Amino acid sequence: MVRGIALEGSVRILSSRITNTLLEIRRRQDASPTAIAALGRLVCAAVMMGWDMKVSSGRLTLQVVCDGPLGGMIADADTQGGVRGYVRNPHVDLPPNEKGKIDVERAVGGGELVVIKDYGLREPYLTRVPLVSGGIALDIANYYKSSEQIPSAVALGVLVDPKRLIASAGGVIIQLMPGVSEEFVSHLERGFSKLGSVSRKLEDGMTPEEIVEELLGKDASPTWLGHQKVEFRCTCSYEKAESAILTLGKDEIKRMIEEGKGEVECKFCNAKYVFSLEDLKKMLEEVEKDEGV
Ligand SMILES: [Zn+2]
Repeated sequence: MVRGIALEGSVRILSSRITNTLLEIRRRQDASPTAIAALGRLVCAAVMMGWDMKVSSGRLTLQVVCDGPLGGMIADADTQGGVRGYVRNPHVDLPPNEKGKIDVERAVGGGELVVIKDYGLREPYLTRVPLVSGGIALDIANYYKSSEQIPSAVALGVLVDPKRLIASAGGVIIQLMPGVSEEFVSHLERGFSKLGSVSRKLEDGMTPEEIVEELLGKDASPTWLGHQKVEFRCTCSYEKAESAILTLGKDEIKRMIEEGKGEVECKFCNAKYVFSLEDLKKMLEEVEKDEGV
């Protein structure tokens, strides 16, 4: 992904191609074309927004709480291009909409977008905004406008080819700072409607930079300020699985002891953490000690 500015900094730009990362996420989630099209848009926004926090460690989480058949999804990114994603009902697949496109809006339905920015200092910043379209891009733009007061244009795309694999995926976020002229805003709106689909442009071989250059036109050529590799990265660990079991409480641990083993599966990467009878007995002791039993 790339980051840049135009018109003396009054236009901020993020642009990305995440095709290989999304292939990895699709494989781990065993996601249908509809599910990966929806989750992919969310992942694409999250990885750019995480990098845009401009700190060396921190996390950006986008959670979609929704009543559509996908049942909800999460994209969780660090600030260095690492991202992971989860969709609750990955096998849901819907027929295309009347334009022949994957019907992400219907698969998501109504609900809210929760944006969590964690700078690792104090409590994370949590913002909830209602979903305005379910198609994700407009929902992210609405978040920027209503919560950060930054008018933004967002395009996110996942192109699924006939072999049901991801052909390309990526997105563009353009933010307008105070001082941008009305003319530029309508110029940008025209650019976006002319652009068509970002994923199609990427599939045609255009780079994230070239897509933005085409979008802005020659009167607002961008200055590129940084590049960042994007990759699938999960943060699960044996220690985190252990504390997950501890938070379940003693009754649940006793049940696991009866079964002879405890298992925690990471819903993002499918890694399995298995705890022996021995481990579980130690954990039960720990919990009972904490509870003063
Ligand atoms: Zn994991």
